[in-house]
This record gives sequence, structure tokens and C-alpha cells, in this order.
Amino acid sequence: ARVEDRLFYNRYLLDPGHPHIKVRPHTMPSSELVSMLTTCPAHCYVANDKHQIEVAVDGCIECGTCRVICEERGDIEWSYPRGGYGVLFKFG
Ligand code: SF4
Repeated sequence: ARVEDRLFYNRYLLDPGHPHIKVRPHTMPSSELVSMLTTCPAHCYVANDKHQIEVAVDGCIECGTCRVICEERGDIEWSYPRGGYGVLFKFG
């Protein structure tokens, strides 16, 4: 099944004021950051009208892709959501 189909079965509990992923403020995004526009399976990354990259964590499935690609260079800060928040996987 496509990821989007699977996402239908997930629920996301947003933790207001505690986003678990933050994009470092930037003028020009790195190519790694730009790649997240197409690489994030949950389409959490978007470009604003200044071509800066923003992240909206609701819907994030915590796959870790952006962490692997962007965290080491400091483009983002990534942590798991606090207990009880974030993606709630429903199996079956
Ligand atoms: Fe997207 Fe995965 Fe990063 Fe969540 S962890 S924002 S789903 S790439």
C-alpha cells in the first residue's frame, strides 16, 4: 500500500507549543533541507513565499528521514514527541 493509504489509519496528537522538529531559521535553505519537500513521506515540509523551508509536525510518522538527512548539519532539531503525543499507530 502507498504510505498515504497507511497514513489514513494513523492519528496524530499535536503537542501545542512543543513541536518535536524545528527548522533552524535561514535565509537560503540547504539542498538537503529543500530535498525534504519531496522526501518527507507525510509532506510535513513546505516552502514559504520567501523560499524558506518550514515544517508542520502534525502528521509526522517519525520515520526519521529528515533527522538522518538534516540534523547533523544543524538544519533541524529533532526529538521524539513527549509521551502520549505524536503519531499513534493503529495496526491491522
Ligand atoms: Fe517527515 Fe519523517 Fe521527518 Fe516526520 S520524521 S517530518 S515524517 S521525514
